[in-house]
Amino acid sequence: MAAKRVLIVYAHQSSGSFNAAAKDAAEEVLAAQGCTVQVSDLYAMKFKATATAEDITGEVKNADHFRYAQETNLAWEEGKLCADITEEQCKLTEADLIIFQFPMYWFTVPAIMKGWIDRVLTLGFAYSQEKRYSQGIFKDKKAMLSFTTGSHESMFSSNGINGDMNVTLWPLQNGILHYCGFQVLAPQIFWAPSHIPSEVRGTMLEGWRTRLQGVLGEKPLYFTPLDCFDREKGYQLKPEVHEKHATKEFGLTVGIHLGLALPPNNQMKAGV
Ligand SMILES: Cc1cc2nc3c(=O)[nH]c(=O)nc-3n(C[C@H](O)[C@H](O)[C@H](O)COP(=O)(O)OP(=O)(O)OC[C@H]3O[C@@H](n4cnc5c(N)ncnc54)[C@H](O)[C@@H]3O)c2cc1C
Repeated sequence: MAAKRVLIVYAHQSSGSFNAAAKDAAEEVLAAQGCTVQVSDLYAMKFKATATAEDITGEVKNADHFRYAQETNLAWEEGKLCADITEEQCKLTEADLIIFQFPMYWFTVPAIMKGWIDRVLTLGFAYSQEKRYSQGIFKDKKAMLSFTTGSHESMFSSNGINGDMNVTLWPLQNGILHYCGFQVLAPQIFWAPSHIPSEVRGTMLEGWRTRLQGVLGEKPLYFTPLDCFDREKGYQLKPEVHEKHATKEFGLTVGIHLGLALPPNNQMKAGV
C-alpha cells in the first residue's frame, strides 16, 4: 500500500477506555505501514461543539437573522473562519482516509463529534448544491465509522429491541459522509466492550488490527449514484431506474428502498 495520510477524529474522555485502545491500535498499525496519522482528540482539544456566529472572525453579514450555513460559506470564501475550524479543514484536505472513533451516544455520535461535523464540514468546503453524494467534494477520500456500543449485537438486529443497525447508520453514513462525497468503508463496530470478558475484548482489538492492514484498499459501501435521480423532478429516482428495480426483492439501499425489503447489511458490508 502506498503511503497515505490518515486523520482520526477521536471522541472519548478517557485514555483508559476501549475507544482509546482502538484509536491507539489504528495509529500504530497505520503508522507501521508508512501512513502519516494525525489525531484530533476532541475532548483533549476542548473542541467547541456549538455552531455559532463566533465561528466567524469579524463582522457577520446579517446579524439580525444569522444563518450559519450561508455566513460560514462566505467566511470560508473570504478566509474568515476561526482558527480551530480552519485547522481541522487543513487536516481533512490532506487526508486520504478519515476514521471517526467514538462511543455510540443516543444512537449517534457524541455531541462533541457532532459539533466537529457541524462546524468543520462547511458549505462550499465540504458540499454544495452541485457537488454532493456520488459527485461530492470528497469523492477521492475514504471515511469510516469505528465505534463501541453499550448494547449487544442481537439488540441492534432487524428483530432486536433497538432495531436494525443498518437503519441507525443511514443518517451518519448517507446523510453526512456520503453526502460530502466520501467513499464510505464498512463500519467497525465493537459490540458492548463493557459487558464482555477481557479476552473477547482482546480478540476484537486483534480483529481491528488485522483489518487495518488492508483498510485503504477496501471496497466502499454501495450508495445509489446521483445520476440515478432527476434534478428537474425534485431529485426523485429516474423512472427507468425505478422500473428496473421494481421487480427486485430488495430496495436499492436502506434509504432508497422503493417500498421493497431493505437490502440486508447495506450499511454494514461492501457489495450489498
Ligand atoms: C450519553 C450516553 C449515551 C449512550 N447511548 C447509547 C446508545 O444509544 N446505544 C448503545 O448501545 N450504547 C449507548 N451508550 C453506551 C456507550 O456506547 C458505551 O458505554 C461505550 O460505547 C463503551 O465504550 P468505552 O470505550 O467507553 O468503554 P470502556 O468502559 O472505557 O471500556 C470497556 C472495557 O474495555 C476495557 N479496556 C480498555 N482498554 C482495553 C484494552 N486495550 N484491551 C482490552 N480491554 C480494554 C476497559 O478497562 C473496560 O473494562 C451511551 C452512553 C452514554 C454515556
